[in-house]
Amino acid sequence: MKNSQRNVSSRPKASGSDFEAEKENTQELGREVPVGSADYLAPETLNKALEYRSRYGYKAVVIAGGTDVMVDYFEGLTEVSSWLDLTKIAALKEMKFGPEEIRLGSMVTHLKLATDPRVGENLPLLAEAASEMGSWQIQSRGTLGGNIVTSSPAGDTLAPLLAYQARFVLGSVSGQREVAAEDFFTGPKENVMNQDELLLEVMIPVSRERTLSRWKKVGKRKAVIISSLTMALLLELDEKDVITGARAAYGAVAPTPLRAEEVENYLAGKSLSEVSAERAGELAAREISPITDIRGTVAYRRQVTRDITVEALLDMQQG
Ligand SMILES: Cc1cc2nc3c(=O)[nH]c(=O)nc-3n(C[C@H](O)[C@H](O)[C@H](O)COP(=O)(O)OP(=O)(O)OC[C@H]3O[C@@H](n4cnc5c(N)ncnc54)[C@H](O)[C@@H]3O)c2cc1C
Repeated sequence: MKNSQRNVSSRPKASGSDFEAEKENTQELGREVPVGSADYLAPETLNKALEYRSRYGYKAVVIAGGTDVMVDYFEGLTEVSSWLDLTKIAALKEMKFGPEEIRLGSMVTHLKLATDPRVGENLPLLAEAASEMGSWQIQSRGTLGGNIVTSSPAGDTLAPLLAYQARFVLGSVSGQREVAAEDFFTGPKENVMNQDELLLEVMIPVSRERTLSRWKKVGKRKAVIISSLTMALLLELDEKDVITGARAAYGAVAPTPLRAEEVENYLAGKSLSEVSAERAGELAAREISPITDIRGTVAYRRQVTRDITVEALLDMQQG
C-alpha cells in the first residue's frame, strides 16, 4: 500500500462549518481511492480563498484545473485532507491588456491563451505554447497558474514567461508580492511560494519595440507529449534591425527553466543580419545543464538546443 493511501485515510480531517463537503468512498482500478473522504472548499471570492489558505496552509491542497494535482493524487504522490478549489473565483479568470502591461489571471486556461486573438497578437510565444499543450481536454481544464505552480522544468508556458520577463503576483491575507519569473523557480517542482500564498496573476510588460519571436517544443512525438526541450526566443529590434534586447529561454534543459545569458549578450547590440546563428546555437548548447532521462540524453539535449536555436535565428534572418 502506498503511503498516501494509508495516510490519507488515517489522517484527521480539517473541520469547520464552512466546508462544502461531500463525502463518499469510491472504488477505482480495483483499489480504494478515498476521493470523497477529503473535505472540499470552493470559495467564490478571492478573500475567502486567501483566508482558507491562511488557515489551512498545505493541509488544503489547491486545485485549479486538476490536470497535474489529480494525477499526483491518484498516483499516491499527494496527500489530501481537504481541497481548495479556485474554479468559482471569477477574478482569477480575467485577462487585461493595458498599454503598459498585460495581466493574466492564474485561472486562465490554456485553451483561452491558445484561442483569444489578443494573446495571439501580443504574446505569440504563450499562445503557441498553450496550443501545443497536451490535448484539447487538457487545454480546456489546465490553467496557466497550475503550469507555473507545478514548476516542472518541462512546463510549456515557462520558457515563454521568462522570455516575456513576466512577474508573478502572489497573494496572502497579509498582502501581495511580486516575483520575477526568473526568481520564482528554485528546482524541479520547487518554487518560492509560501504555504499561505496563492498565485493570483501574471504580469507581462508590453514591449515598445518591434519584436520577433520563435517558439519550439521538441518531444518524442507530435501531440500529447511532455516536452524533451522547449525554447522561447525573443528579439527586440530598432528601425535599423539592430537587436536592442534579446531573450533566449529554454525549458527541460536544467533543474529550472532558464535564460541563456551568453546567447542574449552575444545577440544584443548586433544587427540581425550580422548575427551568426551557429555561434548563438553553440553558446546555447554550452550554457544549458541538462540531465539524461527518459526523454533524452545530455548529448541529445545539447545538440537539439543548438539546432533549434540556429534554425530559429536563420528563420528570423530570412524574414
Ligand atoms: C495527459 C496530460 C498531458 C499534459 N500535457 C502537458 C504538456 O504538453 N505541457 C505541459 O506543460 N503540461 C502538460 N500537462 C500538465 C498539466 O496539464 C499542466 O501543467 C497544467 O497547466 C496544470 O494546470 P492545472 O490548472 O490543471 O493545475 P492543477 O493540477 O490544478 O494544479 C497544479 C499545482 O499547482 C497548484 N496550484 C494551481 N493553481 C494555483 C494557484 N493559483 N495558486 C497556488 N497554487 C496553485 C496546485 O495545488 C498543484 O500543486 C499534461 C497533463 C496531462 C494529464
